[in-house]
Parts: sequence; structure tokens; C-alpha cells
Amino acid sequence: MEFPIERFNEKETPFYYYDTDLLRQTLAEINRCTKGLPYHVHYAIKANANAGLLEVIRQEGLGIDCVSGGELKAALAAGFEPHKIVFAGVAKTDKEIRAGIEAGIQCFNVESMNELEVINELAKEYGTKANVAIRINPNIDAHTHKYITTGLNENKFGISLEMLDDVISKALKMDGIELSGIHFHIGSQITENGPFATLCDKINELVPHLESLGANIRTINVGGGLGIDYTNPDGHPIADFESYFGTFKTRLHLKPHQELHFELGRSVVAQCGALITRVIYVKQGVNKKFVMVDAGMTDLIRPALYQAHHNIENITSKSAESDCYDVVGPICESSDVFGTNETLPVTRRGDLLALRSAGAYGEIMASRYNCRELPGSMLKEQ
Ligand SMILES: *Cc1c(COP(=O)(O)O)cnc(C)c1O
Repeated sequence: MEFPIERFNEKETPFYYYDTDLLRQTLAEINRCTKGLPYHVHYAIKANANAGLLEVIRQEGLGIDCVSGGELKAALAAGFEPHKIVFAGVAKTDKEIRAGIEAGIQCFNVESMNELEVINELAKEYGTKANVAIRINPNIDAHTHKYITTGLNENKFGISLEMLDDVISKALKMDGIELSGIHFHIGSQITENGPFATLCDKINELVPHLESLGANIRTINVGGGLGIDYTNPDGHPIADFESYFGTFKTRLHLKPHQELHFELGRSVVAQCGALITRVIYVKQGVNKKFVMVDAGMTDLIRPALYQAHHNIENITSKSAESDCYDVVGPICESSDVFGTNETLPVTRRGDLLALRSAGAYGEIMASRYNCRELPGSMLKEQ
């Protein structure tokens, strides 16, 4: 990734820089891989709701997957059409359900019997039927970090296979519910096709069973979760969409009246973003050297929350020599560390560092802990 250093020098750090050309190329690849197929891709807006990125994503024709009323609002404000918006979330409030009904969204992804009953009541109040997909917890191990595994029985998400028949039968009898299909989301940062193939097998087995209960399954939504290469962002700037969509194409038995929906977040926006931060001090510790930067876990929480690692580059050092550093933020928490034993060109106060692959679950998760300002942002095209 190339960085416009002159523009950076005029901007207060830390901030997120987004390569919108790379985002467009990523979206073009998604569109290429799904062209001519009954596939619909919804961008999972929780990964990043930056208005500039949403504009590009909308232009390239994706819909939206949201998990809160706030995200629904952001999607509508960005001009996404309601009939391309799906709404998941384990604890939607009445207010959020009403907002979805009023907007005329495509579908609620329902995660419990209790929620189904509430949507039914509210839809009847509006004299309408709410389109609903049942989120099923298929008990599949996504082989990813435990905080981002969502499809196991021990997770809070979705309806377990044991409860499913009961929920489907009740849904079919509700006047305020139009049961349109089923929904899954097994986890995030999934870097092998195995879990997705297992999901296809489960769906192939489930659909005839649900049809035998009287359900007409028109939409199958397989969620998101496709991972990206955090260790080599320049080697793999675009996720392997070909093999991801190919897995569903070859493995899932889609009938002519069925549509397949996807909810991709990370794989759409992660690689186009970098967190740009300035070195405040270089400090010699007892056994190590610390590079102390002006970005902290409040700007990018993934390392502190999931033990994630983002590649760190010194984008302004002219030094031919390198040294070994721990790169740390200014927050009063010992977990506020971006990297240990990082080999960087000799780094000095005032240098700019880029934390790569930070476009997903970065800016959107920023907090004001320590009364800090939220990070700014800059788009390549602006
Ligand atoms: C988070 C989430 C996604 C997106 O996951 P990614 O790993 O970013 O692709 C999709 N669907 C639901 C329901 C989610 O909660």
C-alpha cells in the first residue's frame, strides 16, 4: 500500500487512512465471483460505518447487514435501499424492531422464540407481516478465536437445532410473520474453507427437513466470516473470494426458487484501512526499547481484545538500519500494546507508523476511554 505522506503531515494523528481504490477492487472481485448467480451480498456494517466507505460500497451494489437500530439508521442515512437490508442481533428492542418494520427492511434474522413472538405482535400492530429468517446455531466449530466463534451450542447466538422444529412450526402459524428462510453466522476471521463446507452440508440436510414441516425456504443466508491475511497484507490485499464463493457454489444444493445471501464484513474493508500514528517518544527500558505512539487501544482495540496482531510499518524513517522495539500506546492499561519485538527501521520521535489491515473492527470500535478524542479518517479519494 502506498501512503501520501505529504497529506498525512497536514493531519492530526492518529487517524484511519482508507485506500478506496483497493476497496473498489475488492468489491469488483466480489461482484465478479457472484455474477450470474442468485447470490446477494450484504455488507456487515458493524465492521466499519465510515460514511465515505459506505458510499463506495453502496455504489458497487451491496446491501447491508445490521445488528442494531443505530446501524439500521446509519445504513438508511447512507442511502441503502431498505429492501436490501437484513437485521440480526440477539436482543433487538421493541424500538429497534419498530424501526425495521417502519423502514420496510428485507428481513429480520430472528434469534429466539421470545423475539419471534415480539416481532409477530408488533407486525400485527402495524397491520403487516414481517419477513423473518430463523437464525440457526448449527453447532459448527469455526476454528477461530473464541471471542469470534458464534456457531457453537455454548454461544448465545441463534436457535439450537434441538429447538428449531418447534420455532419453525410456531412461526408458520403466526399472522404477523412471513417465514422466508434460514440464517447462519458461524464466526469471523475464518481462513479455511472447511467450516463453510461443513455449513453447506448441514444446510443440505436441514432444508428438506424444514420443508417437510411446511416451511417454504426461499432465502438461505450463510452470514459472513471470511478471513483475511493479517501477516501479509500486500501479498494478499484481496481475500480469496473465488474459493469462498466456489465452496458454496459446488457444495450447497440450491433449488431454482432459492436465493443465497452473504453478510461479509471483515473481508470487504479490512485490507483497505491503516491506522496512522505518530511516534511520541522512544524509551530505553531495562531489557528493551519502547516506541510510544499517539494511537492506543482506544483507537484500535483488536490487539488488546483478541490478541490480534497488525503489521506495523515505519512509513517515514529513512534509516537503513533496523532495531527491535515494543510498540505501545499511551493508555493506562498494560494491554495497550500493538507489538512486541517488532523489527523496524531505526525509529525516532516524530516518525509516522502505519498499523496495517485495520479497516475492519478498528475505527468503529474506538472509544473515548481516558477522555481521548476519537480518531479521524482520510480517504485516498477525497
Ligand atoms: C459480524 C457479523 C457478520 C460479519 O462477519 P465478518 O467476519 O466481519 O464477515 C455477519 N453476520 C452477522 C450476523 C454478524 O454478527
